[in-house]
Amino acid sequence: MQLGKYPRAKLAQLPTPLEFMPRLTKALGGPKLWVKRDDCTGLATGGNKTRKLEFLLGEALAQGADTLITLGAVQSNHVRQTAAAAAKYGLKCEIVLEKRLSQTNEAYERNGNILLDKMLGANLRYVPGGTAMMPAAEAVADEIRGRGGRPYVIPGGGSNPVGALGYIDSAQEILRQSGEMGFAVDTVVVATGSTGTQAGLVVGFEAAQSGVDVLGICVRQPGPVQEEAVFKLVEPTADFVGLKHAIARERVMADGGYVGEGYGVPTTGMIEALDMAAKLEGLLLDPVYSGKAMAGLIDLARKGKWRADQSVVFIHTGGQAGLFAYEPVLGGPR
Ligand SMILES: *Cc1c(COP(=O)(O)O)cnc(C)c1O
Repeated sequence: MQLGKYPRAKLAQLPTPLEFMPRLTKALGGPKLWVKRDDCTGLATGGNKTRKLEFLLGEALAQGADTLITLGAVQSNHVRQTAAAAAKYGLKCEIVLEKRLSQTNEAYERNGNILLDKMLGANLRYVPGGTAMMPAAEAVADEIRGRGGRPYVIPGGGSNPVGALGYIDSAQEILRQSGEMGFAVDTVVVATGSTGTQAGLVVGFEAAQSGVDVLGICVRQPGPVQEEAVFKLVEPTADFVGLKHAIARERVMADGGYVGEGYGVPTTGMIEALDMAAKLEGLLLDPVYSGKAMAGLIDLARKGKWRADQSVVFIHTGGQAGLFAYEPVLGGPR
């Protein structure tokens, strides 16, 4: 499947590395664990949204937009990467931020991604938790059009068929790299939230008829609910790229066992995962997404989900800027 026909703006350092994790593999007694370093996409501390934004910004520029509008939680990594993309291409950036967490602290409100959003020049508007976010973003778009501007609205997490192209591309990259390195990928494990990352991966691996399983680890809702949400994006994404064969619903797999109390709320598994990744591999995960996804991978490996000779690729989706917002949880005794 060729992605060359879609408008694309260069933002990411690609390909990102695919690295073996020998010490984590040994600590868990297998399977063979690899990490796809999508935390190294390079834009303002990187992360998975940069791949999606290459196609979203490509479309925005093709339409002559002068302002990017998007939305997210206060510590959204997507918002930070969108603000950086807008800055790099000289567009204005308007952000609607949802105060989604009921219990926060000064670090969460002011440090991490929010500090970087401000440095990157985005205009931030806050709305209460539970606000209908897309209508709120559309209202900002109307306001900007009213002033003669040309807004382009990016949905939460950049998750629509255009954004998902970035993860079709990533799936192709993983197949190419693992082939060059001489191993076959059995399962890809990835944090799944707004769904675009997993949907793009599923379409990419299925289009290539690779047989690779994509296991999403949920960060905000139960597995069956997340699977439906991901599948709802798989279908239009497959249509958008003109995939000839249908993708079976069973190819969308999400495990809701590691969410804990909810989105952005720390779990002991997440804290252990951050600790193991850091101390065994020098790898920094994040508290909201990749940490919970790695908690899932660690637990499932311990429970014997994979044979020791199988290969599992963990997609590091980034988010390390969020570590600084969680210092009160992660920093230990003073
Ligand atoms: C957004 C995000 C995800 C989840 O990707 P979705 O496409 O929203 O499902 C995973 N990890 C990090 C660090 C993210 O910022």
